[in-house]
Amino acid sequence: MDVAVPAGARWSCHACGACCRLFQLGPVAPAVIADLEQRGVAEAWAPAGSAPWYERRQTPNGPAFYLRKVDGACVFLQPDTYCAVHRLYGASAKPDFCQEFPFQVTHDPNGTVVTARGECAGFYASSVDGEPLEGQVAEVLAIPRTRPIPRFAPQQVELIPGRSLPLNDWMDAEARVLAALNAADGSPAATVAVVRHALVSEGPPPDPARFTLATRALLHTLGLVLDHVLSTETNAPAAEARFTAELREVLRRAELAIHGTTRPLSADANRHLNLLLRSAILSKSVHALGGVSYGLGLFLFNTELARLAAGGDASQPVSAREHSDVYTRLCRLTLNTTIHQVLLKARPALLDLFLHAA
Ligand code: SF4
Repeated sequence: MDVAVPAGARWSCHACGACCRLFQLGPVAPAVIADLEQRGVAEAWAPAGSAPWYERRQTPNGPAFYLRKVDGACVFLQPDTYCAVHRLYGASAKPDFCQEFPFQVTHDPNGTVVTARGECAGFYASSVDGEPLEGQVAEVLAIPRTRPIPRFAPQQVELIPGRSLPLNDWMDAEARVLAALNAADGSPAATVAVVRHALVSEGPPPDPARFTLATRALLHTLGLVLDHVLSTETNAPAAEARFTAELREVLRRAELAIHGTTRPLSADANRHLNLLLRSAILSKSVHALGGVSYGLGLFLFNTELARLAAGGDASQPVSAREHSDVYTRLCRLTLNTTIHQVLLKARPALLDLFLHAA
């Protein structure tokens, strides 16, 4: 089987526990619940014995099991941020999504793609000191799955509104884009401009003022949404309310910074974001908003927001570590269902970011 990974990509878990806090812990396959019950996990791990360690929820696809959270973290997260199920019974006893995270596996017309997700809080650190992705592919593909691997097979792929490519032509275009990105070493905006050049030759000349206006509009809109969530969802679990308040603060810092002199990104941060962009293109996650231009606009918005909100020493460029600390949280925000709906409505602004990146 042909398996593609982003050139030069590395990943190893840094056991920070962030993924055990910020994601929904389900649906869990009934067989996994039954296996853990049969092994006596509630007796072996005290926090799981003090209250039910899973719950049954209604979902659009029917009832499903979810692992319970305690103060915002998976009931099995140990104080040392390792997983109690993994320690007691090995990786194969965990739900498939825990085993797979942060890998993302996708089938496309050329074969299979394996990438690491930018939402992993250890993405940057492990891109420097982790194991090469190539060497982990067989293990990732061997994880038993309750859901089939997604297949990227639209008949047409929209580049910009009114301009689409048949799937096979898109695969050729994707190869050209990735080759161009492998050679690019500029800022995220310059890198997206390289992609735009490889995809669409027509269109208006890039206008930095439109880019800034679109960034401001998106900042303002997301700020209003988070204000609304904070004032209306007063019964949200404490950890979720903390996360929302923290993100509101990130937006506020960016709103203040956009009016002043801002720090550029370091060469290291640019390299890191180039890897993230290549991963998003190869995994097809850049198409999630219904068109590649919107996905690239969202990538630019998140990178710009993280740069503006990074704070720190004003005389120094923003380092890759400073940037990724904010960026990974923003990636998780954009996975939220409400925010996703807002981004779908904000597609004209995302398109402007794509068209006017320079
Ligand atoms: S967020 Fe990433 S680095 Fe941290 S525990 Fe989860 S997989 Fe490991």
